[in-house]
Amino acid sequence: MRDKELYQKILCIDSPWLVKEVTLESKSNTIEVEICRDDKESVNCPKCNKVCPRYDEVERRWRHLDTCQYQTILKSRVPRVKCIKHKVQQVSVPWAEKNSRLTLLFESLIIDWLKEASISAVSKQLKLSWKQVDGVLQRAVTRGLARRAKQTPKRLGIDETSFQKRHEYVTVITDMVAGTVIDVIDDRKKIPLEKSLKKLGKEALSRIDCVAMDIHKPYISAVKNVVPDAGAKIAFDKFHVIAHLTKAVNKIRKEEHDALMEEGDESLKGSRFLWITGKENLRSEQESELKKIKSIAVKTSEAWMFKEYARGLWSFPAKQYALRAWKKWYSEASQSELTPIKKAAEMINNHLQGILIAITKNATNAKGESMNNKIQHLKKIAYGFRNRRRFKNAIFFHCGGLDLYPKAMNLIENPL
Ligand SMILES: [Zn+2]
Repeated sequence: MRDKELYQKILCIDSPWLVKEVTLESKSNTIEVEICRDDKESVNCPKCNKVCPRYDEVERRWRHLDTCQYQTILKSRVPRVKCIKHKVQQVSVPWAEKNSRLTLLFESLIIDWLKEASISAVSKQLKLSWKQVDGVLQRAVTRGLARRAKQTPKRLGIDETSFQKRHEYVTVITDMVAGTVIDVIDDRKKIPLEKSLKKLGKEALSRIDCVAMDIHKPYISAVKNVVPDAGAKIAFDKFHVIAHLTKAVNKIRKEEHDALMEEGDESLKGSRFLWITGKENLRSEQESELKKIKSIAVKTSEAWMFKEYARGLWSFPAKQYALRAWKKWYSEASQSELTPIKKAAEMINNHLQGILIAITKNATNAKGESMNNKIQHLKKIAYGFRNRRRFKNAIFFHCGGLDLYPKAMNLIENPL
C-alpha cells in the first residue's frame, strides 16, 4: 500500500476528500498530510446545507495524533461558499470541529490526558501551548453542557468550596444519587442559589426528596423559597455538622497550645491532626500519642470528647431515639465552660430538625464528600486557577458526568 492510500485509510477519509500528498520532514520530525477536495463535487453551506457557489479557498492546518515519533499535521485548502442567507462560510471538514486547529481524534486524546493530569503537564507532554490545551478543556465542557439531558435530581447536595484566595467561594450543587455536579455558582449567597435551582424547573423541584447542606442561612432560605415543602427536606448532614464541632475543637486547641507555650510546654505542637481526625481513623501510634497529650490538654480534650460523642449520634434508625440522644448531648455540651463548644451546641440545637432529617433519610452526603475531595485535589494539581470561570469549568470537566468528546464523524467510530 502506498503512503497516500495508507493515510487515506487510517484517517478514514472518503470522497470528496482525498489525500494528495504525504511529506516526511525529518529535520523537524514532522509528517505533513495534504488533503484536497474534489473540485467537481458540489459544496454546501455548513449552516443550512444548501448547495452554494464556491467563493474561494483558505489554507488550514490541524495537528493530528503522532505517527510513531513524528508529529503529524494535516493540511488542506478548504473551500468557502457564498450562501445567500449565511454569506461567506467555510465548508465543514470531517476530521475537525469548526475553528479548531486540532483534529477530532487528537482533541479526544487531549481530553483523555486531561482526565489524568493538569493542563501544564498535558501541554508539556503533547508539545502544545497551555492556551491550546485549555481551549480543548473549555470546548469539551461547553459541548458536554449543551448535550446534557434535563436534570431531575432526587437528592441534592449544596456545598461551598473556597477558590484561590481563602475567602472567595463557589457553591457546588450536586446530584447526590448520580454523584455528578449540576451547577457551580459564584459565592455562597441566597439569590444566585435560588436562580440556579429555578433552572431545574418546577416539576423537577417538586420531585426533590432531600437537600443536604451546611447550616448556612442563605442556603436554607434559598431552598425554602424554591423547593416545595423544603422544611421536611433540608438535611444538615454529618460532614457539615461535625465540621462546626471540629472547628470549635481546633480553636480551643490553639488557645490551649498558646497558653502552654507561654509556660514553655510544647506538648501540643503539631497535634492538630490528632484532634480533628475521627478516632477510628487514627493509627495505633497516633492513638497512643493522643492519649498521652489528652492528660495535658484538658480543655481540648473535653472539646474533643463532645465532638466524638456527636459523631456517634448518626446511627439511629428512629427519629425519637435520635432526638433523645441529641437533646442529651446538647444538655451536656451547653453546660460546658468552653465557649466555642457552647456556641456550636446552640447552633446545632436550633437546627436539630434538619439533623434528624439527615439521620432518618440517611443523607450521609458521602458522594458530596468525595466530590469535595476531588475538587480539593483539582485545586492542588492546578496550582491555582487563573480565574473563576476556569475553576468552574474544571469542576464540570472532572465532576459533571458530561459527554466531553467531539464526535459527528467517522473518525471516532473507526479510530486508528
Ligand atoms: Zn446557508
